[in-house]
Amino acid sequence: MTGSTDAPALELLHVGKQYPGVPPIVALDDVSVTIERGELAAIVGPSGSGKSTLLHVIGTLDRPTSGTLTLAGVEASKLGDRQLSAVRSQLIGFVFQQFFLLEGMSALDNVANGLLYRGVGVRERRRAASEALERVGLGHRMTHVPAHMSGGERQRVAIARAIVNRPSIVLADEPTGNLDSKSGASVLELIRELHAEGRTIVVITHDRELAASLPRQISMRDGRIE
Ligand code: ADP
Repeated sequence: MTGSTDAPALELLHVGKQYPGVPPIVALDDVSVTIERGELAAIVGPSGSGKSTLLHVIGTLDRPTSGTLTLAGVEASKLGDRQLSAVRSQLIGFVFQQFFLLEGMSALDNVANGLLYRGVGVRERRRAASEALERVGLGHRMTHVPAHMSGGERQRVAIARAIVNRPSIVLADEPTGNLDSKSGASVLELIRELHAEGRTIVVITHDRELAASLPRQISMRDGRIE
């Protein structure tokens, strides 16, 4: 279930995603793309072009209507829901524009919660969480609650939660979308550092300038890769 070490990080072959409607809404149309281990890639395109749908499919949060997704050599469509969520929690860390932190809970516990379903004891969860918070530059903010943090700090907590489990792939959906330009630049710098340490990272953005600053751009329009 851990997949093969020489397979690409992820591979989509002829992936389609339709939502019910008359006529059906085609969110993804025959998308084929391979992302190798250790890549840092931007998925860029205007609003409605299918970026979030693609991220949900890559992240196995949503199943495609057609085509196949292979993660580290494991074909997702062959797995049942429980196996799929095990693969997801092992391989993928998520970062979202809206952070999705529990506002009243300390940064440390927000991050430690990222390990709740891994059968790790509370002490080990907290140890790993504190290491992840140190990594994102928040060693001095562990006991603070997100409600008392800036947007940039919240996104760092969310990034710590995404990496606490040491996933091989980090998927970030508009990670700087809710931040002022200075905090956004510093979160982007952190993403570059995490990539330099060997992680595979896919960043969704509608910001062409941000995308152009990353090593690879995958451009979407009307559900297709351009
Ligand atoms: P982006 O992230 O690039 O803005 P999305 O992936 O959110 O694009 O959307 C792609 C297309 O799919 C849009 O036309 C959108 O309205 C449609 N869509 C997305 N999610 C749903 C849904 N749950 N039900 C129906 N249509 C959806």
